[in-house]
Amino acid sequence: GVAIKDLRKSYGSNEVLKGISLDVAAGEVVCLIGPSGSGKSTLLRCVNLLEQPNEGSIHVGGFDATDPDVDIDKMRRKVGMVFQQFNLFPHLNALRNCTIAQTKVLKRPQAEADKIARANLERVGLGHLADRFPDQLSGGQQQRVAIARALSMDPELMLFDEPTSALDPETVGDVLSVMRNLAKEGMTMLVVTHEMGFAREVADRVVFMDGGVVVEEGVAEHVISSPTQGRTKEFLRRVL
Ligand code: ATP
Ligand code: MG
Repeated sequence: GVAIKDLRKSYGSNEVLKGISLDVAAGEVVCLIGPSGSGKSTLLRCVNLLEQPNEGSIHVGGFDATDPDVDIDKMRRKVGMVFQQFNLFPHLNALRNCTIAQTKVLKRPQAEADKIARANLERVGLGHLADRFPDQLSGGQQQRVAIARALSMDPELMLFDEPTSALDPETVGDVLSVMRNLAKEGMTMLVVTHEMGFAREVADRVVFMDGGVVVEEGVAEHVISSPTQGRTKEFLRRVL
């Protein structure tokens, strides 16, 4: 899991994260919701040190991410990240997209990497399209390859940043169903999403952020159906 404590992050004089504390226990699914600009992506990017936090601590996969001596590359291997834009390598087919980091970073032999990649492509329902290149796949299929690629590194935690926001409506369901299955299998997940149906059904907890602070958090059903804070109510009125 991940334990975030009193995390602060500024860009110049703009303090974007103003003391965020948030835990995701092993096997837990937490959905992070909040208005545009509230700091959700920045928080996720701090967790795998794509951004350097200014203050606070992050413990993930047995690593202290904010220890100056942390081995960032080793730590990042424990954290899978899936973005709104899939960022697949356009010149590699689905299988190779799922093997390249395994062979280059984890130094797995090609045959072993292939086996693991194929298993993960099966897991996301794309075993039959392993030879396709990204431009021969739909957006939803590309996103599922991106998930299979992340899973192929055996992460302890999966971060999702609005994974369905850039997709055509008809492909959103397949991606959400892959994520639902991952949750059922016990994957630890921190998911930024505007899909309230998914959050209500799949998340163990929902965290509502606004203005760089956690305004409200709790059991998904409670936060979404009976929020206590005015800002949460207003946000949900707009997105539901
Ligand atoms: P959205 O729902 O639109 O994705 P968000 O909650 O993910 O929003 P962030 O992307 O984390 O919000 O941005 C929070 C604030 O930090 C915004 O005011 C944004 O302009 C600012 N910000 C984000 N990244 C940078 C950066 N690299 N440099 C300067 N400011 C940044
Ligand atoms: Mg964002």
